Amino acid sequence: MFTDHVTVLINMLNNVYDCLKQDLQHVSDDRRVYGTLFNIFHHLATGLSLTQESPLRDVRFRCTMDYMRELLEHAFRIHSNYKASLDTLARKMYNRSLLNLMLRGGTTKTTRYLLLCDGMSMVEALYIAYRLRPSFIGVILNPGGITETYKLILEPHTYFKQEGQVTLNDIAQRIAEELGAKEYYVFRDFDERIHSGRIMRASDAVDSMYNVTLKLANKLEYLRKEYNATILVLSDHGYDVIPEAGSIYRFDHHWRPRSLSILSPLLVI
Ligand SMILES: [Zn+2]
Repeated sequence: MFTDHVTVLINMLNNVYDCLKQDLQHVSDDRRVYGTLFNIFHHLATGLSLTQESPLRDVRFRCTMDYMRELLEHAFRIHSNYKASLDTLARKMYNRSLLNLMLRGGTTKTTRYLLLCDGMSMVEALYIAYRLRPSFIGVILNPGGITETYKLILEPHTYFKQEGQVTLNDIAQRIAEELGAKEYYVFRDFDERIHSGRIMRASDAVDSMYNVTLKLANKLEYLRKEYNATILVLSDHGYDVIPEAGSIYRFDHHWRPRSLSILSPLLVI
């Protein structure tokens, strides 16, 4: 049953990916590519209109929007129906990414690299996919939308065995060993932005995360070029945009109905 859910989620993500390669072709500016994904995703999840103009009423993004909606509804359904067994699903999804990494031809151990992000959402994962053309896109459903619940479902053994608090660094180190990765890195910039406490206009919220995403994309591009690396990119949770007074917003991440925080993407690049 869980293998089926994993396959369905991967297929849905690939549909989104295929559509956005097509739909975003006419968008020449990189910032607009990111902004389009950001606006569509947050709109589909919560009904927020962070932008008045395109892409929400633009027929050219219809395919991307339809498949994103399908993906989100399916993910929310699994999250609420199978809460107690999301760890099984997480493990299977993670194993699928490992299988892809092995098949990808990262044959010598030195070429593998692990990058664990704190707070990279599906929006950033898809933007990076659009730019770097990964060989695998997956998603883990994080029951609480927070780092603690991710550690618990992905690495229950480490979590219960270790005395004292398990850090993201511990998790990254453990996974890097399993991969035979040359190095690992924990990328914390997204989470720092989320917890900055800033309130801002929608366009500033998009810009703020876009800048972090560029930094990550550049890092990945560098690793791939310099070291010919095959990189597993994981994220522990996403984040949500929360309306404050007027048209002012802030970031946050934890479970709430139709929360994007529960989506933890995986990429093999
Ligand atoms: Zn956080």
